[in-house]
Amino acid sequence: MSFLDKIGFTKLRNGLTKTKDDLFGRINRLVNAKKTIDDEFLNELEEIFLSSDIGYDTVETLISNIKERAKTDKYETDDELNKLIRDEVMKIFAVSTSAFKSYDFEHHKKPFVIMVVGVNGVGKTTSIGKLAHNFKKAGKSVLIGSADTFRAAANEQLEIWAKRAGVDIIQNPKTGDPASVAYDTIKAAQSRNADVAIIDTAGRLHNKSHLMEELKKIQRVMQKVIPDTPDEIFIVIDATTGQNGLNQVKEFSNALGKVTGIILTKLDGTAKGGIVVKINNEMKIPVRFIGVGEQIDDLQVFDSEDFVNALFGDK
Ligand code: GDP
Ligand code: GDP
Ligand code: MG
Repeated sequence: MSFLDKIGFTKLRNGLTKTKDDLFGRINRLVNAKKTIDDEFLNELEEIFLSSDIGYDTVETLISNIKERAKTDKYETDDELNKLIRDEVMKIFAVSTSAFKSYDFEHHKKPFVIMVVGVNGVGKTTSIGKLAHNFKKAGKSVLIGSADTFRAAANEQLEIWAKRAGVDIIQNPKTGDPASVAYDTIKAAQSRNADVAIIDTAGRLHNKSHLMEELKKIQRVMQKVIPDTPDEIFIVIDATTGQNGLNQVKEFSNALGKVTGIILTKLDGTAKGGIVVKINNEMKIPVRFIGVGEQIDDLQVFDSEDFVNALFGDK
């Protein structure tokens, strides 16, 4: 592991402190106290998983897998018992093959276009700043489009992030038409031969059909420049909102017909980080990135192995 990767892992672990202390602190205490996988142990373990927002169906599978495992596998020390549980948590993550193993991904075309959607205040603009920073660091040229024309301050906020990331921004503070800014961004990305273009959009409630129509229009207008654009539509979800976040994913993907990935933010602010497991298992849409703080380097490529290791305090 490189030096930078290690810093990344430390940040991940620190960002997940609340969930780690709660979820795995409790598992550790249970393991210490009981030492044996019996019904009482499984009941308590089930309760711990449920309280961490892992989700009922996933917890059921997890518990029955651990029960089966306990029939055949020996576990003599606390460490072995802990490892058994960790292995099963690791397994339960749907394995999602992704271009986003890192920010230095192979893109099949240029510009690679990412549109970012979600409700208000979930962290869209912040995540775009962080994405841009990471792509830039990986040697990509990045252009950001400010298609949140709804709020006057939105341009300014995105401009600050663009500056921090050291990338260019396309904006038009005079227009109220987000599709036109998206159009300009794709045009500019083409003519500047940019690697990646990221489009910010205004927050909107998923049950407002005219606002969903507006998103589709942004898509259509970009497709006038490049058919099949955008390559990715990321929905941003605030990890502290629990079940509501899952509903948002469902509604946005129904309305748009396509959402390709989830950016799960504010994991540092919740002890219910188990929501990642739930989203991975219940949604057919993979978690691509996770936000573990407000700083520019607090967005991480989601890696289930690192995630579970960070929670169990390994490495
Ligand atoms: P938008 O309305 O979806 O564009 O949300 P913003 O990007 O403006 O973010 C709303 C608030 O959430 C800001 O105060 C951000 O600093 C904060 N935020 C975004 N991502 C994270 C995160 O991963 N962790 C924490 N703690 N705060 C975050
Ligand atoms: P209402 O009063 O219940 O109809 O809702 P609002 O007008 O307060 O809008 C709720 C949220 O939807 C706002 O905070 C905006 O982010 C978003 N919104 C409302 N109208 C528009 C619009 O025309 N364009 C965009 N992009 N967002 C809008
Ligand atoms: Mg925003």
